[in-house]
Parts: sequence; structure tokens; C-alpha cells
Amino acid sequence: TGRPLYLGIDFGTSGARYALIDKQGAIHAEGKRTYPAAVGQTTNWASSWREALFQLLGDIPPVHRSSISSISIDGTSSTTLIIDRNNGELLAGPFLYNESFPDALPMVSSIAPANHTVCSGSSTLCKLVSWWNKNCSNGSNDSAILMHQSDWLLWLLHGEYGVCDYNNTLKVGYDPEIGSYPSWLMSQPYSHMLPSSVRAPGVPIGPIKEDVRSQYGFSNDCVVCTGTTDSIAAFLAARTTDAGKAVTSLGSTLAIKLVSRVRVEDARFGVYSHRLDDQWLVGGASNSGGVVLRQLFSDDQLVTLSKDIDPSSPSPLDYYPLPKSGERFPVSDPDMEPRLEPRPDSDAEYLHGILESMARIEASGYKLLKELGATPVEEVFTAGGGAQNEKWTAIRERVLGVPVRKAEQTEAAYGAALLALRGATTGS
Ligand code: ADP
Repeated sequence: TGRPLYLGIDFGTSGARYALIDKQGAIHAEGKRTYPAAVGQTTNWASSWREALFQLLGDIPPVHRSSISSISIDGTSSTTLIIDRNNGELLAGPFLYNESFPDALPMVSSIAPANHTVCSGSSTLCKLVSWWNKNCSNGSNDSAILMHQSDWLLWLLHGEYGVCDYNNTLKVGYDPEIGSYPSWLMSQPYSHMLPSSVRAPGVPIGPIKEDVRSQYGFSNDCVVCTGTTDSIAAFLAARTTDAGKAVTSLGSTLAIKLVSRVRVEDARFGVYSHRLDDQWLVGGASNSGGVVLRQLFSDDQLVTLSKDIDPSSPSPLDYYPLPKSGERFPVSDPDMEPRLEPRPDSDAEYLHGILESMARIEASGYKLLKELGATPVEEVFTAGGGAQNEKWTAIRERVLGVPVRKAEQTEAAYGAALLALRGATTGS
């Protein structure tokens, strides 16, 4: 066996990936599996994820397996399963990250503080309350417990009930600042269903189950560590954890995440903070972004037209690119209309105007976070398809007024591997 390696696995919306790194962060192996296709009418997500997990473990080159010291997994935020802790069977769900349970909203809003992040139909707490109302209102089911996607996948590997991390539990109402569930939540009849042991991401939970360990040939002292959400894992991949550093993700949407000394929340703009050790990771997401570019140009056209853009001269075109009406951050206006006119004759000028306008939206986003009390942005790393575009990077640098560069690593699986590394090297 060679030097120790650390395994991270990401469960995203369309598939799962793994990354295997060493202590220096160098990647020794990586791979991807799309979720196995649905059998029959409805997708059995839980078994698709389980299958993908064990397929990925089997994809790891055997030569590396006995060197794997630790494993961590991230999953989509607020993806929820209800499990029977007597036998580990799935009682309900998975309720996916984007599924909404507006039926639970009046009850959740009546117990939570105004504008709390649980007050959204897709929050984990709404999923839990909706299930509870339908199944337990006439007498409780004492053995039913709630697990997030990454809790459940990690549990398949370690077998201990009730363990979670403080990133995944944010949307069920856990308060990472006081390190417990608030009293308005603990007084609810379903509070015994909440994960009982909420820890920092990337701390050891326990040894990998012996049958899994021996089947795949992992190291004798291989430990399973707490995970996080997919977007936090993607942020961690960039390895920028100083206050004032930020990651802008230019994928289908435009999302920003800023390391701040101060925790800020504002439900009107969908702004909230995750705990990041002793600091906060403040985030906001605009509906503008690459999906609008894709409606207008192919990726090849984007490359060709960008060549004709002079990023040092500001475009006078003032657009607000949106795929459909409605914006939340940095402007909260559910009726806002997309603005992509006037369209000049030159497509390069048009693209310049769009990229410049998106850079202004990004700049307003960082400005809004500062106004809400967050640490001002000092440097921006870029992830997503838009990170490839050097002209856009130069435009953004001018508009944002801070250095902008491409993040070296942006895969959530890499961020999860960093959590595994942390769990193996810092101890519990
Ligand atoms: P997601 O994973 O959110 O779907 P990606 O990170 O894969 O998105 O990024 C895809 C987006 O990047 C597309 O919407 C596309 O328009 C945009 N994109 C691709 N190439 C370029 C480019 N050269 N310049 C600007 N945007 C680009």
C-alpha cells in the first residue's frame, strides 16, 4: 500500500462522481456514474443512488483501495428520506431538493421566526412536516427518522443512526451559531426524528462497515466522515477560505458565495449563511446566467463572438438577461421582465452587452451582500461554463473592481475529498 488517499463522492442532480486525492490535494483517480435508469413508471431514487455509490466504489482502481484512509459524501441540499431506525428501511421519500410541499408551509411559518430559511415549501422542514401530518398526526411512529441524502449514503457505509453535519441541517432549522436546534423546533412532536448528532463537515463518524471494507479492499482503519451539501462541497473545491474571498459560479444560473466574518440572512433576496468553521459562507443566486446565453448562442458561437469583444471598453447596452420573468437576487421582484433590447446589428456587440450586463448583476450581488453586513469582496474565483471565457473574466474584473480568476478545482467531489482528508488528519 502506498501513501494514504482520501475519497470524496458527490451526489449531484444528474449523477455521482468520485475524486481520490492525496494529502497535497493531487488527484489520483476520479470517475462518474449517471444514475441507473428508472425501472417502470417511477424512479426509485434511493436504490439508484445506492447502486451508483457501490458502482463508484467498484470503479476505483484496485491498486488504490487499500490506501483509502477516509471517505466523505456530499448530496443535494434538502433532499430528504424517512427511514425506520429499527430495520433501516425506507418509509417515505426521497423527497428531492426541488420538490415543494406548500401544504406544510402554514404550519412551518407559524412556528419559525419570520423569513427563516425553513419558510420555503422545498425546505427539509416542510418535507418533514408534510410527511408527519399525513402519517403520524393520529399517534406517533417512534422509529421513523429523517435523513438527508448524504446522511443516508454515508450511513450505508458506517451504519450509525442520527449523524449529520451542520450544513445539511440548516434547512431543517438547525442553528449552527448556537450549535443546536432552536427551542421552537425542539418543542414539536416530530423533533425526535431530527438527526441527534450534528457535527462539523469532515469529522470522523466511525469505521467503514466490515462487509463493505472487505468487499472493496479498503484500508483496515478506513473511517467514514461527515459530509456537506453539493454547493458547499463545490465551494470547498476552490480552497478559498479567507474572509473576503468569493466564488462566482457561472453555470445555468449566476450564483455567488462569499466568505464573511459576519453571518447575514435576508429571505427577501434568498440570502443566507452557512457556517464555515469560525466564519460564514454567504450566498445568493440570480436567475440570470448561462441559460440565457444558451437560448441565444451555441457554445461555439460564444467562443467565436467573444474574440471580437474588447473587454476594456464598457458596453453601453443596459440589459437584464433572464430566461423568464422574475428575479430574486440581487433584486427581489417576482414580476421583473427580461430586458434584452435594443439588439444591435453586430452579434459580438450584442454578446458584449449581455456579458457586461451580467457582470453588473454580479457586482450588484456582492454590493448587496456588503450592504447586508457581509465582509466586502476582495477576490473572486470563477466556476462553471462561463469560467472558460477570458474576455468575460476581463469584463468582470473591470466591473467588479477586484481580481478575478478561474478556480483550479470546481468539482464538488473534490471538495468532499478535502473533507475526507480533514477528517482523517485532524481527528475527532
Ligand atoms: P450547469 O452545470 O449549471 O448547467 P455549466 O457550469 O456546465 O452549467 O455551464 C454551462 C453554461 O456555460 C451554459 O449555459 C453556457 O451558455 C455557458 N458557457 C459555455 N461556454 C461559454 C463561453 N465560452 N462563454 C460564456 N459562457 C459559456
